[in-house]
Amino acid sequence: MLKVENLKAKIVGEEKLILKGVDLEIDEGEAHVIMGPNGSGKSTLANVIMGNPKYEVVEGDILFLGESILNLRTDERAQRGIMMTFQNPYEIEGVKFDQLLFTAYRKLHGEDKTFFQLHNELKSIISEVDLPVEFLERFVNFGFSGGERKKGEIVQARFLKPKLLILDEIDSGLDVDALRLVANQINEIKRAGTSLLIITHYSRILNFLDVDKVHVYIDGRVALSGDRNLAYEVEANGYSIVR
Ligand code: ADP
Ligand code: MG
Ligand code: MG
Repeated sequence: MLKVENLKAKIVGEEKLILKGVDLEIDEGEAHVIMGPNGSGKSTLANVIMGNPKYEVVEGDILFLGESILNLRTDERAQRGIMMTFQNPYEIEGVKFDQLLFTAYRKLHGEDKTFFQLHNELKSIISEVDLPVEFLERFVNFGFSGGERKKGEIVQARFLKPKLLILDEIDSGLDVDALRLVANQINEIKRAGTSLLIITHYSRILNFLDVDKVHVYIDGRVALSGDRNLAYEVEANGYSIVR
């Protein structure tokens, strides 16, 4: 599904590499966790996979479904089925949550469902994440609390059904009940067939997640890979054991 090969990248116009040779391979339907300290380049990796023009790839490749996507724009990558949620989701004044989602759905999946069907589907997802139905009528992320934004990102992912979903610190700032709910939703997304790259710096979400692999990420590369026990070991002993 996704293959990242010796990926090196930096901010456009700067010299210093942030990604220093990332290798990562995610198969269809798998959920991988990337865990790493603050400032190690996790969000940069997510942004580079998504094609954020602020960053420049200087070496290596990103293959999605067997083809390099390095020359594709962000919207073209999204159209192929890659989606990312943000560590700090943007506010979009003037655009209602349901409008945004209906438009995005039609762009990705065409007219396979009527607006009536889409609306019903969205309402049922909204209630599963414990958000009020009025949420659909509000401007995207406008005045949403931190927890509501994170749940809103989950609603988008469940509704839009990307092939690959990258979650950047979806667990940060959530209380334990919201964390459990969000983790269960991520498991649901996985069951529906989406591959996942879950970026975090805490192991606690792993207690609730169905995860295939854990990668410890330090200073711009994957330093060590294993199962969930690797994350617990890092949590108990710090990143120094990996270094
Ligand atoms: P993480 O998500 O692991 O905390 P980031 O990818 O956000 O790490 O950042 C990695 C490093 O790159 C940090 O030193 C950060 O300051 C720097 N960096 C990332 N993006 C930018 C940017 N757009 N402008 C300036 N510095 C950046
Ligand atoms: Mg950070
Ligand atoms: Mg980050």
